[in-house]
Amino acid sequence: MQQFCPKCHYPQAHPFGLTIAETECSGCLTHKEKDTIDWVSRYSELEAIVKKYKNRTGKYDCVVPVVGDAEDFYTLSKVLELGLSPLVVCVNDFFKNDIGWQNLHNLITHFDVDSFVFNPDIRVYKDLVRTSLRKHDHMMLPFLQLHSSFPVHVAYERKIPLVVWGQNQAVEQVGKFSHLDSVEMSRWSRRQHDLLDIEVDSLIGNGAQVDLRHLNYYQYPDVQLLSRRGVKGLYLSNYMRWDPLTQNKSMTSNGFQPENNTSSFDVYERAGSSVYYQLHDLLKYKRVGYRKISDHVAREIRHGRVTSEEGKKLVEAYSDQAVFVKPFFDWLGVTESGYEWFKMHRLRGFEHLLAESAEAINPVSITLPDSLENMISSSRTAQEHHVIFGKGIYI
Ligand SMILES: [Zn+2]
Repeated sequence: MQQFCPKCHYPQAHPFGLTIAETECSGCLTHKEKDTIDWVSRYSELEAIVKKYKNRTGKYDCVVPVVGDAEDFYTLSKVLELGLSPLVVCVNDFFKNDIGWQNLHNLITHFDVDSFVFNPDIRVYKDLVRTSLRKHDHMMLPFLQLHSSFPVHVAYERKIPLVVWGQNQAVEQVGKFSHLDSVEMSRWSRRQHDLLDIEVDSLIGNGAQVDLRHLNYYQYPDVQLLSRRGVKGLYLSNYMRWDPLTQNKSMTSNGFQPENNTSSFDVYERAGSSVYYQLHDLLKYKRVGYRKISDHVAREIRHGRVTSEEGKKLVEAYSDQAVFVKPFFDWLGVTESGYEWFKMHRLRGFEHLLAESAEAINPVSITLPDSLENMISSSRTAQEHHVIFGKGIYI
């Protein structure tokens, strides 16, 4: 029997590892630190740390990895507030829709920062996505591998000693560490939390014809070389009171565009993706028995904008939301019969959640509590999915 936190309703099956006690879970317990920590002094600690990295000989003080969602806007605003000179690095996941690309370009334009987008070899990338789907019921692993390692390679190769991330998910979601532990980026943490303990090695073989040279950036750099060069990665959420919804809402004034979301009330997190709340969300449901809505509800209960009872109703209301997955299979080059096979064999039991089109998905009919409703900005609907930009345009 799946066990749930009585307060935030997080399931014990959370892949990061969740401990559930009588009244609350480890995530709820660690969250309470947010009201007891002296954040002014934590911020001073952060300032003292980053001071060592400022104005060194190179052009940039730090690398900031982004996808272009609201949290990246916030993270970058804080990096600039700290007086750091950032190089913004984005790995193209080939899943962005029109809103995603606009947000990424608004981000680098609004903050006027240097940036580049890494476009991985699309043939290799698709091979890895196929294998990842087949072996792990997961479509984002190749991207997560790149997103969590490529910026670190950039830091190493360009001799930029600092990588700044926004939130530490293991602390914020399941409370695996205290904020005061000041957990840093590491190969171990990447594997355990970003990659669900699955390295790229398991995505090759069995039909994926991938040259090992193409996988360099999918793998974390040599840790000894990193430490010799003094590359360090830190998470801002350990040093400031991290409240994603409040932060993300405020980023609309910096050019961030929220995206209409039929699978959650949250219009900020990972806005601009053609798959995140579609097939990716459905596969998450299949793998671990809960959907992205549970992450959002747990967060909002802990922040006090939703009661435990209201949260439970929200999870129930959104759990049976349909998703539109066909554009992803078209992008992957799967034939009609292949698509039918996948539905029949790999999405068995979830067929009722597959919509025929994006328009066929009805919004969830549930009234949000006022304290939550007030935080949701008006959003728009993406017009184009899988906007291939950077590599892979067929003429
Ligand atoms: Zn909890």
